[in-house]
Amino acid sequence: DREQQRFADSHPASRANWERGKRHFLYGGPSHWMRRWAGGFPPYVEEAKGARLTDVDGKSYVDFCLGDTGGMCGHAPEAVTDAAIRQLQRGTTTMLPTEESLWVGEELARRFGLPYWTLTTSATDANRGAIRFSRMVTGRDKVLVFSGCYHGGVEEAHVELRDGKVSLRNMIHPNGVDHTRVSKVVEFNDFDAVRAALADRDVAVVLMEPVMTNFGMIPVAEGFLDFVREETRKTGTLLIIDETHTISSGPGGYTRLHGLEPDFFVAGKAIAGGIPAGIFGVSQETAEKIWAAVPYVNPRQRQSAHLGIGGTLAGNALTIATMKAVLESVLTPANFEKMIANARRLAEGARAVISANNLPWHVTQIGARAEIMFTPRPPRNGADVIATRRGDLETLLHAFYMNEGILVTPFHTMFLMCPATTEADVDHHTVVFGRFVELLKQE
Ligand code: PLP
Repeated sequence: DREQQRFADSHPASRANWERGKRHFLYGGPSHWMRRWAGGFPPYVEEAKGARLTDVDGKSYVDFCLGDTGGMCGHAPEAVTDAAIRQLQRGTTTMLPTEESLWVGEELARRFGLPYWTLTTSATDANRGAIRFSRMVTGRDKVLVFSGCYHGGVEEAHVELRDGKVSLRNMIHPNGVDHTRVSKVVEFNDFDAVRAALADRDVAVVLMEPVMTNFGMIPVAEGFLDFVREETRKTGTLLIIDETHTISSGPGGYTRLHGLEPDFFVAGKAIAGGIPAGIFGVSQETAEKIWAAVPYVNPRQRQSAHLGIGGTLAGNALTIATMKAVLESVLTPANFEKMIANARRLAEGARAVISANNLPWHVTQIGARAEIMFTPRPPRNGADVIATRRGDLETLLHAFYMNEGILVTPFHTMFLMCPATTEADVDHHTVVFGRFVELLKQE
């Protein structure tokens, strides 16, 4: 409370904006996440550039939140800004493709290893599209997800395992529609539960992150991803690997790094440098099944049909131009190397503080993403997170960071590196984290 009060007292302009915004925004503002950690309102942004952000109260932050991955390219990277300005002057939405899309399609196939792509305006829509195609192709209606997952506004994934049963997740009001009829949910890393859930052959598709990132970072158990792939193939079930967050693992995402073979590959957020965009890739085999099930989708047909996947603004010329700039100049192997080295440095710095103070905490780092957790070892699944989570410490640390000029992703103490993040930014975190531990010791 003291840290939240400290933040509130030092942000009069943001507080006044929030009071004004509350009158017309259902959630108080177009973005409301950080209010939970700050003094009941978010700081309003004056400018975000590279790895830094300044608010309207004149406070500057090292940004490790990076738009919860949407800003993973760094804020306003020059290549993306230039491409956006150029395209804005030449028109954005025409219902016709631009030639730049040709390069984008070729690059997505080369980079992520799936031959066919669909563009949407968000990762949520990409997941929904992949689910819809899965149902068409398999004739089944159920979706299997893992407890603690988040895949955007996908109703089928707004479930969790409670007392061994699929239940609507606390955070989501049922709205009178019971999505649990079409969802199955099991714990992450539970081999037997996956086998049992797929054995009924009523699951159209498994929707998963390769490493869970939305309930704290939950690393995947040895062999689990291969096992899921094997069981899905055996039972005629499709597999969506949602890389919206784990795209931070490397230039080809976690999929390319670990040789995964999904039927659908989903990404969004960072893919167009922060301009709204989602993508999903489709394997050759699945594309052929889609064309067999819905011939009008096949580009070899003269007629086409609208399946309600994608959308009017999906793949518009602005998105295409910025996606090209991102793939060509920002999310490059060299930049990933730098981002991952900084994530490693951050994890090592935090681990040094933890071990110097004999704390029963740990740091997980996967690619350009790192997280401090207040448990001795990483959780194995969602149930483990629920049993061991220290929400009180998370809240205190978040508020302390914000007062000390550091932003981390909402909900968890997760850090993301962008190409503009410097070693000095990372070392600043180590110092602040050390101060936090000192503060705790004094209390
Ligand atoms: N998939 C994952 C793994 C996510 O973490 C999120 C959002 O946090 C989404 C999908 C949805 O992305 P968007 O909000 O851009 O639709």
